[in-house]
Amino acid sequence: MPTEELHRQVVIIGSGPAGLTAAIYSARANLSPLLIDAPADADKQTTPGGQLMITTDVENYPGFANGIEGPELMIEFRKQAERFGTEFLEEWINKVDLQSRPFTLHTDSRVIKADTLIIASGASAKWLGIPGEAKTPNGFGGNGVSACATCDGPLPAFRNKRLVVVGGGDTAMEEATFLTRYASRVYVVHRRDKLRASKIMQEKAFRNEKIEFVWNVDVAEIVGTPEHGVTGVRLRNGADGEHFTLDCEGVFIAIGHKPNTDLFVGQIDMDTVGYLKTNGHSTSTNIPGVFACGDVQDSVYRQAVTAAGTGCMAAIDSERFLDHLPVEMPSGEEITIEGEHITADRQLIITATGEIIQNEPMPE
Ligand SMILES: Cc1cc2nc3c(=O)[nH]c(=O)nc-3n(C[C@H](O)[C@H](O)[C@H](O)COP(=O)(O)OP(=O)(O)OC[C@H]3O[C@@H](n4cnc5c(N)ncnc54)[C@H](O)[C@@H]3O)c2cc1C
Repeated sequence: MPTEELHRQVVIIGSGPAGLTAAIYSARANLSPLLIDAPADADKQTTPGGQLMITTDVENYPGFANGIEGPELMIEFRKQAERFGTEFLEEWINKVDLQSRPFTLHTDSRVIKADTLIIASGASAKWLGIPGEAKTPNGFGGNGVSACATCDGPLPAFRNKRLVVVGGGDTAMEEATFLTRYASRVYVVHRRDKLRASKIMQEKAFRNEKIEFVWNVDVAEIVGTPEHGVTGVRLRNGADGEHFTLDCEGVFIAIGHKPNTDLFVGQIDMDTVGYLKTNGHSTSTNIPGVFACGDVQDSVYRQAVTAAGTGCMAAIDSERFLDHLPVEMPSGEEITIEGEHITADRQLIITATGEIIQNEPMPE
């Protein structure tokens, strides 16, 4: 049973690049943010610090000319957030009530009230759950297996190598096409005889001479050695059930991502996959005072630097909201903490009591 109740002006869910950047900005704005992140849990695959905790080299985060290890980068983010007074809590948020402000969040042992909420709960790459896929030393994750071609494709380990991309949707086609810049050959391995990807993405992949399709197969296992990393994938033919090995030096799993938004179903507007809806100009969700940043609202870019960028935006948006300034909603209208609405065309102000006022400066 929850025993303790806390109340904070800014509560942030998630300690990946988005949540920690929001914390740095909120803490420097003297808002004493509380950042809550799930504890390390091997079964649920959570680690404070988010997705970069499960990768090795990060070569594309600006400011690190020689690259940096993912966990090391996240330790630096965290130290910076701590330095300005961020308060940390390692607990799962199990339930939220966003119907009225302050919002209410529940963990196993606490009830937390929040004047503004910044959701940075990220997304999780979907995995096949097959032998050889887990993070090293239990598999080849980080040693030849990846779920992000943009992130890992340019690494020396994948250059001029034979790479396998698993999947048949747009992401798989995009990753395969991208990887042909580096790989000697890219095999797209798919369990059906046709792709789910959009026509334009399929055609682009079919035209690419470096891409070869292997149809109607399931990936049964990723094989290799600790010294050499991945050496192949063991495939099962869907027609006759026979197994065979396809030699390769890298495997990219591209079967989609799942945004961590189950908690918010029925409360915050989402797209069909479950990504939270914001409008790009601001990080506001459809609930005034609730902001979303990072991968939880981004099905397109999904990079640490874009997560950090939107984390900064969310902190500034929540600061503005707490300062009684209008913030832009996904609908294009602006809303203040008092409940004033400014129409999307900026012509009218509708006060919390329903009075309608022209939004024009007073004549001199
Ligand atoms: C293998 C791999 C390699 C990558 N390499 C790169 C790279 O080289 N460069 C790059 O730019 N990007 C890379 N990425 C992508 C990058 O990691 C993500 O874009 C980035 O981490 C997204 O940050 P985020 O803050 O939005 O969320 P995340 O990093 O996903 O963090 C979200 C956090 O919220 C927590 N959380 C979720 N739900 C709850 C809850 N209910 N209660 C409490 N806590 C919760 C999660 O446990 C997690 O810690 C890589 C991703 C992967 C998987």
